[in-house]
Amino acid sequence: MKKFDPSTSIHDYLVFGEFGDVNPSITDSSTFTFLSPKTMADSFQHEIEGCFLYSRHWNPINKFLSNALARLEDAEAAQVTSSGMGAISSVVLQICSSGDEIVSDRTIYGGTYAFFKNFLPKFGITVKFVDMKKPEMVELAVTEKTKMIYAESVSNPLLDITDIPRISKISKAHNIKLVVDNTFSPMVITPLHLGADIVIHSMTKYINGSSDCVAGCICSSKEFIDSLTDVNSGATMLLGPVLDSLRAASILKNLHTLHIRMKKHGENAMYLAEEFEKLGLKVFYPGLKTNKHYALLNELRNDGFGYSGMLAIDVGTYENASSLMEMMQKENVGYLAVSLGYFKTLFSCPGHSTSSEIPEEEQKAMGLSEGLVRFSIGLDGDITLAFERIRKCMKEIGIL
Ligand code: PLP
Repeated sequence: MKKFDPSTSIHDYLVFGEFGDVNPSITDSSTFTFLSPKTMADSFQHEIEGCFLYSRHWNPINKFLSNALARLEDAEAAQVTSSGMGAISSVVLQICSSGDEIVSDRTIYGGTYAFFKNFLPKFGITVKFVDMKKPEMVELAVTEKTKMIYAESVSNPLLDITDIPRISKISKAHNIKLVVDNTFSPMVITPLHLGADIVIHSMTKYINGSSDCVAGCICSSKEFIDSLTDVNSGATMLLGPVLDSLRAASILKNLHTLHIRMKKHGENAMYLAEEFEKLGLKVFYPGLKTNKHYALLNELRNDGFGYSGMLAIDVGTYENASSLMEMMQKENVGYLAVSLGYFKTLFSCPGHSTSSEIPEEEQKAMGLSEGLVRFSIGLDGDITLAFERIRKCMKEIGIL
C-alpha cells in the first residue's frame, strides 16, 4: 500500500493571493468579465485555464480549496459543494439513471439512508442495502443494472470499518463505481489508495472543524469532476449545490490544521475508549485492540493520524442515554448536539436522532441499540478531566 502523508501533500500546495496575500483572495463575484465574446463562447464549450465563467460553475477560491482537497485525498481533482448531501446527491445523479441500481451498506448516515430509500425511487433508481461487512452479500446483490457500490469508510454511527480493498475487487470486476464517504476519517484513511473511485466528505465535520458552516466535497478523477461541471449534463452545474466563496476561504484556512486536530481528536478518543473499557462498558472504538475492526483499520490507515475521534458506548436504554447526555452537558463535558468534528465534545443518541430515518427493526438488525451514545471527542487539553466528569455522571445515574 502506498505510504502517504496527506498533511505534507496539502502543506506543499503553494497559493499566492492576488496581491501576494498569504491566503488567496476571496472571490466576491458571481460572474466574471471576458475581454472578447469569443472567449466567453469558448468557455461554454471547454475549460480555459485561468478563465472563469460563473460561480455556480467555478470560481477561483472554490478552485483553490478543491485543489487542496484533491491533495488531501490524493485525487486528480475535486469539487466543493454547499453540503455533504449536495455532494452525495450530485454523485448519485451523475452516475445513475432511471432503472439503475445501487448496492449500499446498510449502516450509513441516516440522511443518506433516507435519500437512498425514500427519494431515489422517485427517479426510478433502486438501492439494495446489504451488510458491507460481508462482501459475499455485496457480490450477491450486484446485477447488470448496478452502477454504484456505496459505503462509509468508518460507518455512522457504529464505527464499523469497510474493507475497501475487498469491496473494490468486486466493483472493479463488474465495472461499477465504488463511492466512499470518508467524513469520519479524513487523513486517517485515503480511500482512493485502497480502490475507491470517488470520495465524498461532509466538510461540515472534521475538515472545517469549527461547526460554523455546512459544506461538502467530491474527490475523484479529473474526468469525473469535469463531468460534474459540464454545462449541458453536469450534476453540480445543473442542480446547483455551489459553495459560497466566503465559506470556501474559511474552510481552506481550517484545512491546514486538520492533521493536528485529527491527531488530538484521536488521542483523546483513545484515552476515553480505554478508560470506558476498564469500567466494563460496551465500547465501540476501532482503535481498541479488542475491537473487531482493529486489525483491518491498522492495515488501511495512514500512519500518524490515529483512529479518528468518534467513539460510541452502549448504556442499555434510551432513558440511561438521555439522563447521561443531559448531565454531561450540565457538567461541561461537551454539548448535546448532532454533528461531529467540533473542538468541543458533542454527543447524541443516534437511534433517536441522526439514524432515526432508519426503521427500528433495521436498527436492531445492524446492532444499533437505543442506548447507544455517539461521541465526537473534542480537542480538550486535559481529557482526564472529561473522563472524571463522565464517570461522576455515570455513577449518579446508576450506570456504574
Ligand atoms: N455523511 C456523513 C457520514 C454524515 O455524518 C453527514 C451528516 O451528518 C453527511 C454525510 C451529510 O453532510 P451534510 O450535513 O454536510 O449535508
